[in-house]
Amino acid sequence: MGKHSGSEAPEELLAIHTILDLIRVEGPITRSFICERSGYSRSTVSLNCDKLLASGLVVEEGIIYRNEKGKRTKLKINGNAGLIIGIELGATSCEIGLCDLSAKILDFNSSPVDLSQGPDPILAQIYHRIDKMISLPSISKMKLLGICMGLPSSVDYQRGTAIYPAFMPGWHQYPVREILQARYGCPVFIDNEVNTMALGEYSLGTERKYKNLLFVKAGTGIGAGIIVNGEIYRGQTGFAGNIGHIQMEGHNEICQCGKKGCLEAIASGSAIARRAKQFISNGGSQLLREVYEKTGEITAREVKYAADHGDTACSQIIREAGTILGELIGRIVIFFDPSIVIIGGGLTGFGPSYLSFIRDGVLSQSKPWINPDFEVKESTFGNKSGVIGSVMLCIKELVSSGAILRVFMSQIQK
Ligand SMILES: [Zn+2]
Repeated sequence: MGKHSGSEAPEELLAIHTILDLIRVEGPITRSFICERSGYSRSTVSLNCDKLLASGLVVEEGIIYRNEKGKRTKLKINGNAGLIIGIELGATSCEIGLCDLSAKILDFNSSPVDLSQGPDPILAQIYHRIDKMISLPSISKMKLLGICMGLPSSVDYQRGTAIYPAFMPGWHQYPVREILQARYGCPVFIDNEVNTMALGEYSLGTERKYKNLLFVKAGTGIGAGIIVNGEIYRGQTGFAGNIGHIQMEGHNEICQCGKKGCLEAIASGSAIARRAKQFISNGGSQLLREVYEKTGEITAREVKYAADHGDTACSQIIREAGTILGELIGRIVIFFDPSIVIIGGGLTGFGPSYLSFIRDGVLSQSKPWINPDFEVKESTFGNKSGVIGSVMLCIKELVSSGAILRVFMSQIQK
């Protein structure tokens, strides 16, 4: 990391800003480590660490040793210094988490949503849930520092709006960031929900040893988040990672986007449900028919149930969906050369066999052009992946923009 990471902070705040960002990324760390990595003198580091400690934004952790000259401790961001709300708006559900500044989840809930309703009713539902969370008596003294929301569409990150979302009427350029900022009086960030998940895994899920990472969310739709050198890669227009609409050879299934043979039309949760319904109507699966008669619906969950109870047609659907997804990821791996591929989203509920179909598909395409340590693994955070990722993105932005420093430094000057 350089001395300066793009802050808007004035020159005199540069050192404190750089030190805080180092503590965010690498913490808990010692003052000597900060000197070494930042290039600042011991006195500059010591002075600024004292300011950060006095502000309450940073705390000391553990005593490494103590002698007559004093004690040596590590510094880290103070989790109790404030609250962050992380939101993952998915195609069928919305997860909201209230976290502290160390991304520890204090409250979490998940509710179904119907994106066809347009933004206003969905935001009303989100306000209601956030308002309830931030009025919890246990956190009444903590300040809400920021909100980050992931949307199931491409996003204009600078403007904080969705762009051309395929199945979200009314959301194109709807000023969701401005509206949330005005309501809650704190900085708000809007990104694609898979981008945030990728950042969450990078920041917390993989011990940060993987600087180049591909996260694939396989749920109702399919999308990817790309981390290059530790940063989200969004592409020129915010469409990067839209792998669900890559066309697969030999397939003619009509995709909701209007094209034929898109990955999403073959291997997503909705494609799996559609295939399963065909098996019911053509008599291919007796068990699935019985399940359907009982529950009245067929989703990936019913397909898993039938497969787990020995239904070969359903097992075959899961195998094919995993394999074809893996094969496409394998081709991307040859191009991108990530150190790890992480699979998240509702379809991971199919269990370890689904992940092994994906892994086999990836390796069938990418061998031998991958390094020996390359891995395909499941998301660490399950259905909290989007919330954790949003919170990590929010903290990163609050620190690197200098916004959080302005809040805390003004407190010690008072
Ligand atoms: Zn498509």
